[in-house]
Amino acid sequence: MWAFCTTPSLQLPFPPKSQSRLFSNTSLPKFSLPFSRHSPSKPTSIKSSSLSASLQPSNNNHLIQSLCKKGNLKQALQILSAESNPTQQTYERLILACTQQQSLSDGLIVHQHLIENGFDQDPFLATKLISMYSQFDSLCHARQVFDKISNKTIFVWNALIRALALAGEGGEALALYQEMYRIGVHFDRFTYPHILKACVVSSSLVSILRDGKEIHGHIFKRGFESQVYVATTLVDVYAKFGCVSYARCVFDGMLERNVVSWSAMIGCYAKNERPFEALELFLEMMVETDNAVPNAVTMVSVLQACGALAALGQGKLIHAYILRRGLNSIVSVSNALLTMYVKSGSLEAGRRVFEQMCKKDIVSWNSMISGYGIHGFGADAIRVFEEMIDAGISPNPITFVSVLGACSHVGLVEEGKRLFEFMVSKYRISPHAEHYACMVDLLGRAGQLEEAAKVIETMRIEPGPTVWGSLLGACRIHSNVELAERASLRLFKLEPTNAGNYVLLADIYTEAKMWEDVNRVKKLLEARGLQKVPGCSRIEVKKKVYSFVSVDELNPQIVQLHALLVRLSKEMKERGYIPDTKVVLYELDREEKEQIVLGHSEKLAVAFGLINSNSGETIRITKNLRLCEDCHSVTKFISEFTHREIIVRDVNRVHHFRGGVCSCADYW
Ligand code: ZN
Ligand code: ZN
Repeated sequence: MWAFCTTPSLQLPFPPKSQSRLFSNTSLPKFSLPFSRHSPSKPTSIKSSSLSASLQPSNNNHLIQSLCKKGNLKQALQILSAESNPTQQTYERLILACTQQQSLSDGLIVHQHLIENGFDQDPFLATKLISMYSQFDSLCHARQVFDKISNKTIFVWNALIRALALAGEGGEALALYQEMYRIGVHFDRFTYPHILKACVVSSSLVSILRDGKEIHGHIFKRGFESQVYVATTLVDVYAKFGCVSYARCVFDGMLERNVVSWSAMIGCYAKNERPFEALELFLEMMVETDNAVPNAVTMVSVLQACGALAALGQGKLIHAYILRRGLNSIVSVSNALLTMYVKSGSLEAGRRVFEQMCKKDIVSWNSMISGYGIHGFGADAIRVFEEMIDAGISPNPITFVSVLGACSHVGLVEEGKRLFEFMVSKYRISPHAEHYACMVDLLGRAGQLEEAAKVIETMRIEPGPTVWGSLLGACRIHSNVELAERASLRLFKLEPTNAGNYVLLADIYTEAKMWEDVNRVKKLLEARGLQKVPGCSRIEVKKKVYSFVSVDELNPQIVQLHALLVRLSKEMKERGYIPDTKVVLYELDREEKEQIVLGHSEKLAVAFGLINSNSGETIRITKNLRLCEDCHSVTKFISEFTHREIIVRDVNRVHHFRGGVCSCADYW
């Protein structure tokens, strides 16, 4: 299913890019709008008395409108009850006031009055009523308004599609769209953004892609793809479902782009784990456009990309830009800054951002708690959690995932158990799969594997892959073959294509020297056509990010990097280091295995950092998988031997290597 999104040969429902531009420039079909948005014609069925009256509004009309403006809805309704000639504008004001004051009962009174005065066929008021009912989540009333009106303008159709999409009734919205298509309603540029959003909330990914592509085809045929609002929504929809190349195709075909379109495409890259492209596009935006100035949404995505790459240097430049623009006063931007610093290995800078925030929301607190957690400061994470409660902020489920995760990273078993209890008894939060996974991880890492298995047995929900994955991970740390086999059986059923689970089980068999079983798992992996996810490490040197894969033959400095690693390895062996090669699943001789382990991507990144940065400078690396035992001990040694601080963020946490020890105390 996903291959469809990432396959390089796109099957778009419209001609390819170059043709698309040509088409847009030369023969774009022109559509005149059948109705004017702000001056709808009055329906002929309206009573002649109210029509003539609306041309000469009474003083009461002025009074009602003015009371509505001042927020005095009750008094306005009292006067309305005695008013025999209310105007369209009066009703519009009243509907707006009911919406603002969130009063469904008053809305119903106005609606009834409007019917009695013959305005129930007024399409302009019908759109206002539908929007009002949509705000009140009262779809049945919105439907009634829609069904009653016989001269339906495009605005009335759009209003109901919007209401259905907002209410999460994607299927109904799509059915309405099909009806419009069938009876030949002239769509306008406001129809599509709503219908695309409806696709997002419709039932399944398959239908989203099928319907989304079909609607994309309609948009293209009608020439609406050049409309910035429509095209931007398309980018957003494709982004949401990981169809990055589709989103880019639409973005490239846009004749006009505004800040929202740029932000949508940058966000698409950032959210779909393509941080390099996100930063590249941001630079392009800064250089190429005068009319699209980055806003808070843009900056949140850019910071997310910097954090993913642990690009601290670039992150600091972005921070300076944010301060110049005063965007740091926006909570979401400060939260993103905090997370960027934490993920780039600078917990102190993250803490400073947190302390300087004038306004903190739940996301700020959760980010700070999880920041302390992944850096291995469990007690500080709990302290911030308590500060948060003292500040009167109610924790949400994510808060508990953060604080339980923090306990797990440092083995605070009793505190973790207490917090789990606290979550259920005090805050009435039913544990989600993530909370159970945290508990299994906490107990399992601490060696209490049987108790971890008991947590799974007593779960109130069906245990999913995260929970079993936590147990399997713990079995690897503590070499428990029997439980590992139990967890793997479940995982192979739940996630048959996740190669990581097979590799983990093979690692456990290797450790136990159960070679026949190692081969059996390897064959299973091959038979299912799965491949081990290749290790990839990244390092930022002089504000540029470099990527390394294991045994990176294409790297121009590979000979130099190898020579340095071989020299360091000799030094280490003289001091008693024995390479840990158990992660190599192939039957090779010792030297070949050592060669492979020495070529691991994080070691190459460390060597690159040593050669290319100034002496004494901190080396910061990110790794897409868990750091292996050998890389961990080699990095400890290098930190002592070269007097360098080395910070590595692996898939689970941040390791600070300094003076031959790691902040995780070898508990990871
Ligand atoms: Zn390694
Ligand atoms: Zn460590």
